[in-house]
Amino acid sequence: MPGFNERLGAVLAQRRRDDLYRQRLTLESSQGPRVRVDGREYLNFCSNDYLGLAAHPQVVAALRAGAERYGVGSGASHLVCGHSTPHRELEEALAELTGRPRALLFSSGYAANTGTLTTLLQSGDQVFQDRLNHASLLDGGLHSGARFRRFAHNNVTDLEHKIIAAPPDSAKLVVVDGVFSMDGDTAPLADLAALCQQHNAWLMVDDAHGIGVMGEGGAGSVTAAGLDSAQAPVLMATLGKALGCAGAFVAGDELLIESLIQGARNYIYTTAMPPAVAAAGLAAVRLLATEAWRREHLQQLIGRFRAGAEALGLPLMDSDSAIQPLQIGDAGRAMAFSAALRQAGFLVGAIRPPTVPAGTSRLRITLTAAHTDAEVDALLSVLADVAGEQL
Ligand SMILES: *Cc1c(COP(=O)(O)O)cnc(C)c1O
Repeated sequence: MPGFNERLGAVLAQRRRDDLYRQRLTLESSQGPRVRVDGREYLNFCSNDYLGLAAHPQVVAALRAGAERYGVGSGASHLVCGHSTPHRELEEALAELTGRPRALLFSSGYAANTGTLTTLLQSGDQVFQDRLNHASLLDGGLHSGARFRRFAHNNVTDLEHKIIAAPPDSAKLVVVDGVFSMDGDTAPLADLAALCQQHNAWLMVDDAHGIGVMGEGGAGSVTAAGLDSAQAPVLMATLGKALGCAGAFVAGDELLIESLIQGARNYIYTTAMPPAVAAAGLAAVRLLATEAWRREHLQQLIGRFRAGAEALGLPLMDSDSAIQPLQIGDAGRAMAFSAALRQAGFLVGAIRPPTVPAGTSRLRITLTAAHTDAEVDALLSVLADVAGEQL
């Protein structure tokens, strides 16, 4: 019987052989279009700080002021005595942003998704998930006790077949990413909502990559699709991407939110996020309204990048979001491409299995409102050089 040392060692060795070993960078600067790693400055095209708010002076000032007033640790879970004024104010602002009666903060998106799915679902229910959904949605669905079915990516017809094949009297939940995190494409939310209404199913949307960026006022992809809380009853989004902070929330009707407060173990049995982080989140939400130019500039950069990449014949994917992956295929080649870009002073992540299906490794380029036209042009020019050698 081999011990843990042998087993763990064998797994890591296999990962190295498969070009799937992952290593962390250590940033020596704040998040932004230029970051410092090992004493060298890089142009950064791999963060999810889509609006450039992670180091925004007003967000930093709100964090500082929040810490001075409320201290650092929240000291307890929300239900004991860790819930404070900044949490309440941020929840109200997020409910208003998403046009829903209420919102509930979680400490992370992972916790929000697993907590929501395990609270909503029980054995005998049916949960239908797009096969490219985020890992936290898949994990929550698998742990929920419901019958778990995956449908082909963005394929409403496949979903319909699976719904029709399910027991008609079972409770049904359809779960999708609003914007898919590794592909950058958007879910056909209006069609999904119509199908759900037809079959009396609920729709849950994870808008981690749409909130702040898409829709009127940055309200996200659900608003952009024109859906209200009757059509998409469960809306989850994170504060750690376009909003530049940390944590996540679920927005919906009173009944949903109260059920999560009373029942979600990931909400109940965890320390509340630091109140100062909630204060920073509130500042970020306000910037969505006062600095709308960030969304517009980002859209313009997306168009600029796609036009340039298309002219160069680069393997663009079908995305109009800030996530602009280049499909490479082989994990080793994606790694080599990313390493060559790094050598040239550009950080672009190589995304490999198991994050994406085998044979679809890619460079995940992300654009942010903090990038300039010139920086995007510099990326295109280095991509052209490296593609000449690598592709
Ligand atoms: C990042 C992400 C999450 C997890 O959010 P965290 O706050 O980072 O835990 C969930 N869903 C999607 C689609 C994500 O991209």
